[in-house]
Parts: sequence; structure tokens; C-alpha cells
Amino acid sequence: MHTEKNPGSSYIAGGTNLVDLMKKNVTAPQRLIDITPLPLKEVTQANGMVKIGALVPNSDLAANDIIRKNYPLLSLALEAGASAQLRNMATVGGNMLQRTRCSYFYDTTMPCNKRQPGTGCGALKGINRMHAIFGASEQCIAVHPSDMCVALAALEAKVELQGPSGTRSIPFSQFHRLPENNPALDNTLRAGELITAVTLPAPAFTKNVYYLKVRDRASYAFALVSAAVALKMDNNIIREARIAMGGVAHKPWRLTAIESFLEGKDANETIFAQASAMATQGARAYEHNKFKLKLAPATLEEALHKASEGIQL
Ligand SMILES: Cc1cc2nc3c(=O)[nH]c(=O)nc-3n(C[C@H](O)[C@H](O)[C@H](O)COP(=O)(O)OP(=O)(O)OC[C@H]3O[C@@H](n4cnc5c(N)ncnc54)[C@H](O)[C@@H]3O)c2cc1C
Repeated sequence: MHTEKNPGSSYIAGGTNLVDLMKKNVTAPQRLIDITPLPLKEVTQANGMVKIGALVPNSDLAANDIIRKNYPLLSLALEAGASAQLRNMATVGGNMLQRTRCSYFYDTTMPCNKRQPGTGCGALKGINRMHAIFGASEQCIAVHPSDMCVALAALEAKVELQGPSGTRSIPFSQFHRLPENNPALDNTLRAGELITAVTLPAPAFTKNVYYLKVRDRASYAFALVSAAVALKMDNNIIREARIAMGGVAHKPWRLTAIESFLEGKDANETIFAQASAMATQGARAYEHNKFKLKLAPATLEEALHKASEGIQL
């Protein structure tokens, strides 16, 4: 993120994405502002809510007792991301702001409206196996690569921001954006703003949760499709459901129609199959990612099944 006073400056946290982008010449900030000395490394609980500092490393967050007990979905999603070494360096704020893994974005010899507006989208008619099936535009079909953010979207987190004109708090769903006709913008962060924290509402989904990530390798690979499922169950009846998917859109993709469908229903395989069949409503695939139209419902169905069984971290 470029800062307000110095448009050529960028904050740096763990550096695991920004340094890669600099090495590949995708970005070239004139100055880096190391934010790691800032006191944003705590996970605190007050009035039932939890506040996670933007500089908490992904590994510490996944292992945190408050998180494992109250928000196990978040631990599962974090543990599915990257590798142990990367999770030790990667921070909450950096994870939210990591750029897409679209190969046309990383390859400076190729057109990419996200990297260089106006040059076109190489992926649209190119190798688009990893790309979006929801919310894409003719300008960009890239996906947001984070696992953590899929869980935070399902858990209805809020993002705490501090900028030149003060502080503000926005729902997680309003942080990342769809590409529309300005894919260079991944999110709604304003110039100079710093993510200071993420807050989670009082814990409501402590047992019947699951994060299922389907990828090409068991570790160190981004999601082809992932599903974060959180159910509040009363005997075998689903009282509330929260569902988000990763690897399918430019932002974590909430499936609110399926959440509504599930509420009040018995948790059984027939209901899960019916719910999952709704997962590709409004989807559009491209030449190489048509398999996602089958993979997305299958992933969701399995995640619903696993969540209904319950977990204990
Ligand atoms: C090989 C590899 C595999 C990976 N696999 C996965 C995976 O499977 N799943 C997954 O989710 N991620 C994966 N990642 C991505 C990894 O999670 C991110 O690189 C990491 O989370 C970024 O965090 P960071 O602190 O290192 O960010 P940095 O690289 O330091 O910063 C990233 C961006 O965020 C900005 N920034 C950082 N903190 C703040 C803040 N507080 N406020 C405002 N701006 C800020 C920086 O300016 C920069 O633009 C992988 C990365 C690699 C290299």
C-alpha cells in the first residue's frame, strides 16, 4: 500500500509478498516503511469480542488459545495457508493485502490490467485454470489468494483502519473489492491508511466448523477452490450458517443464499447435496477452469459434511 505523504512509499510487514513483487519488478516502491516495530502484535478479548493486531504472525494467530477455542475456523484456514516458515513471517495485515497469484500479473512481459491498467487481461483468453468463476469482469479474472480471509469473511470480521483523516472500521465484506473496470484496486483502503486490527464478533461458531482447501499439492500451494463453513447446530438442526469460498473470485465469496437455505434444516446428506448444488448459481467459467463448476459444489458438500460432524482443536 502506498502511503499518503509519499506516494512512492510502501509499508512492509513480513515482506513475504512485497519483496517477491519487488524482485520480479511488478512493483518498485521508492521507500519502504517498516511497520514491524508498531505495537500491533496482540490478540485481546474484551466485551465478548476479540481484537487481532495487524502484525500478529499467521502462525501465532493459528496457535492462539483464544482463537483455537472460540474461532477454530480461523485456525484451520490459517494452517491451510503457505508453509510453516511463511506463516511465521506473514502478518494479518499483509495476508489481507497480498496480491493475486495470477501468472499474468507476475509476468511483466504480459498484458495485465491489474499491474498496468489499459494493457488488457492476458488470462481472459490465456491459461486461466486458477481463475475466477464469480464476479470477474472483462478487465480482470484474477482471484484473491488468501485462506485466512475466507474464514474472516465467513466469521463477519471487521477491519480497523487508521489513516491521515482518522480511524474507521469497516465490515470485512467491504474491504476487498471486485475488479469491475478498475482491477488495479484490490480493496477499499485509502491512501496512507494502515490496517491496525481485525475484530471478531462474539464467538458463535465454536464446534461445527470446517475449512476445506483443494489444491494441487498438500502444502505450499494456493487454493483451486476452498470452502469455509460455520454452522450453529441445535441437536441436528442448523440454526445459523456462514459460508464463504476461496479461489473463486477477486474477493472471498460469501454464499448467503445457501446460508439462508440451510437455516432451520436438518443436517443430513440430502440437504448438503441440495445446498451445494446452489454453489455455482451465477458462476461463469473460462476455457481452463470449467472444472471449478464441479469442484466448487463438491468442495462445499464435503465441508458441510465435515462441519456437521464437529471438530475439537
Ligand atoms: C510460496 C508462497 C506460498 C503461499 N501460499 C499461501 C497460501 O496457500 N495461502 C495464503 O493465504 N497465502 C499464501 N501465501 C501468501 C502469504 O500468506 C502472504 O505473502 C503473507 O500473508 C503476506 O504477509 P506479509 O506480512 O509478509 O506482507 P508483506 O509482504 O509485508 O506486505 C504485503 C502488502 O501488505 C501491505 N501491508 C502489510 N501490512 C500492512 C498493514 N498493517 N497496513 C497496511 N498495509 C500493509 C504492504 O504494503 C504490502 O503491500 C504464500 C506466499 C508464498 C511466498
